[in-house]
Amino acid sequence: MTMNDKQIRQLVLDACHGLAASGCGNTIGGHVSMRVPGRDLYWTNALDRALDEMEDDDLLLVNFDGKVVEGNRPISPGIDFHQGIYQQRLEINGVVHTHGPWGTTQAALCRPVRMYHNLSTYFYNKVGVSPDDTIEAIAPVLGDNVAIMIPWHGAITIGKTLPEAAALHVTYEYAARLDVKLAATEAPEIPADACDRLQALLSKANYLDLTWELMLRRAKASPGLPEA
Ligand SMILES: [Zn+2]
Repeated sequence: MTMNDKQIRQLVLDACHGLAASGCGNTIGGHVSMRVPGRDLYWTNALDRALDEMEDDDLLLVNFDGKVVEGNRPISPGIDFHQGIYQQRLEINGVVHTHGPWGTTQAALCRPVRMYHNLSTYFYNKVGVSPDDTIEAIAPVLGDNVAIMIPWHGAITIGKTLPEAAALHVTYEYAARLDVKLAATEAPEIPADACDRLQALLSKANYLDLTWELMLRRAKASPGLPEA
């Protein structure tokens, strides 16, 4: 079943609220998008509200030239990588970028997130490091990665659906927190063969579906923002 605009808009709002309620940022900045199936269009959120504040009027329909074709709200000047990713990866339908506190702190380490937990292995050899947030910089490192880290800036996650991208983003924030807390210690990383095994195991689990449902419950129960 193809989703209509109303359903897509609701998912974008749900993702904004779920990300905020899961600790992925309470400042201006960060954008979520979902491709309109079969069209060179996507829905995203306005620039001048925090993720938890987004309402229906704050949603914008954008074409693949980066022009707003519906909605009358300011848009992020850094939005263009969304259409760039949709054009390069046709299976991707959801893109999430935040300045979540741990993802942003980890980004200052200027390397992919390290493997300190089985959930971190979603990102084992699956993070591209891009010097900035332009599609010109992202495109060469996108490959088949599920996340892009931009040094001294933040993270992007992508998914076949927006819920998948959003749940991955919350998981990335968790992996980044472990990395930041453990990077200066003697804690060993998970060995490579175990990372391969765990990553294969996770691909068969429904952890991301369950995480998305948790995000929805958290947003509904507590629209405010947790301490990072
Ligand atoms: Zn940003």
